[in-house]
Amino acid sequence: MAEHGSIFRAMLQEFDEAARLLNLDPGIWKILTHPKRQIIVSCPVQMDNGEIEVFTGYRVQYSITLGPAKGGIRYHPDVTLDEVTALAAWMTWKCAVAHIPFGGGKGGVVCDPTRMSRRELEALTRRYVAEIVDAIGPEKDVPAPDVNTNDQVMAWVMDTYSMHVGHTSTAVVTGKPLELGGSVGRREATGRGVMIATREAARHLGRDLAGASIAIQGFGNVGSVSADLLAKAGAKIVGITDHRGGAYHARGLDIPKLLEHAQAHKTVDGFPGGEPLTNEQLFALDVDVLIPAALENQITIENASTINARIVIEAANGPVTPEANNILHQRGVFVVPDILANSGGVTVSYFEWVQDRYGYFWDESDVNARLEKKMYEAFHDVLQTSLKYKVDMRTAAYIVAISRVGTVTQLRGMYA
Ligand code: NAD
Repeated sequence: MAEHGSIFRAMLQEFDEAARLLNLDPGIWKILTHPKRQIIVSCPVQMDNGEIEVFTGYRVQYSITLGPAKGGIRYHPDVTLDEVTALAAWMTWKCAVAHIPFGGGKGGVVCDPTRMSRRELEALTRRYVAEIVDAIGPEKDVPAPDVNTNDQVMAWVMDTYSMHVGHTSTAVVTGKPLELGGSVGRREATGRGVMIATREAARHLGRDLAGASIAIQGFGNVGSVSADLLAKAGAKIVGITDHRGGAYHARGLDIPKLLEHAQAHKTVDGFPGGEPLTNEQLFALDVDVLIPAALENQITIENASTINARIVIEAANGPVTPEANNILHQRGVFVVPDILANSGGVTVSYFEWVQDRYGYFWDESDVNARLEKKMYEAFHDVLQTSLKYKVDMRTAAYIVAISRVGTVTQLRGMYA
């Protein structure tokens, strides 16, 4: 998220602005700007060639004030403690904005999963979980998938934890396969939440989704589901890019055909129903809504002034840098921040945890109706706060989150 330097400091920059406006108590301010717990572990694994490798793993529980820590586990060669701590803090604010009873956490293992066999990945996952087993659990810390981890990795997490505690514990992790206590609707949840946030932002600005023109960066889980649901709601998805290229059609791309093309070719590039499109062209399109749904740091001081959209929905985590956010705000662009826009995913993770603890599972229409209600309420809580404090939606989302976590911290008092 930072244009340069520490990602955690970039998080603090956003936090401090909101805390000042809230007149936050200095003691609470100190507590909320320190991670509750940072765990560093070494995970020895015997590789397929017989050699031992030792992988460094992290689990950060930034806050457990509202409930168990919640957040994904990422496998990547560039994972650092600074990054994992910042991501755990963002999860804290995201869960508070979504108004679900979770704190924030994040995990990471420094490894390159693209160069590891399935057996090596399973051995690494099981050893990492064994190393942090005392710190996680349905009441303590509930991991989930993140970059380079998936439902199979979550199945190994769930099994390893269950072996250690001596009984099957499905609620220790979310994003599991359905057969192991996963939730219907989880795969589509983030995109569905993005659609709801886009619809509410458009309504607030006096527009209807039907006929609105939309450009989307990224056609993975979040981008493709968002595109599909927005198109079904009547919007025209005029441009989409991914890591290989992009497609443009002024009257709107045929999303079902594009989904088929992407399935077959693993990219939207070369789609016969549109013209080629680059990221640079996508960002400069004259559209009602721009949805960065791929990576962090995509809208920066370099290109913020080329954005022509009226609304930007941060479906990815951290796609707009703080400096670029200021430029967009000054230019009157309505930005819906990541901790609100993509919170549909963690909201349905919460539903998964609830269903596991009940041992009773809902059908998809129940999950979607409950998600609709939670997203609608979260969007309007943040919107009302932004109107009350006369601030942008990002600062307003922080104000909502900080006041919720701050109030509970104050009510619980100091244990000493
Ligand atoms: P994904 O891996 O399924 O898809 C990522 C997409 O981004 C792919 O289409 C890829 O081609 C594209 N992409 C990669 N590099 C690109 C580039 N340079 N230019 C254009 N496109 C590029 O990932 P996802 O699950 O869809 O997640 C996307 C973002 O949303 C990430 O920031 C993630 O952290 C965030 N997010 C995801 C979820 C979730 O539930 N999956 C929840 C919250 C936030």
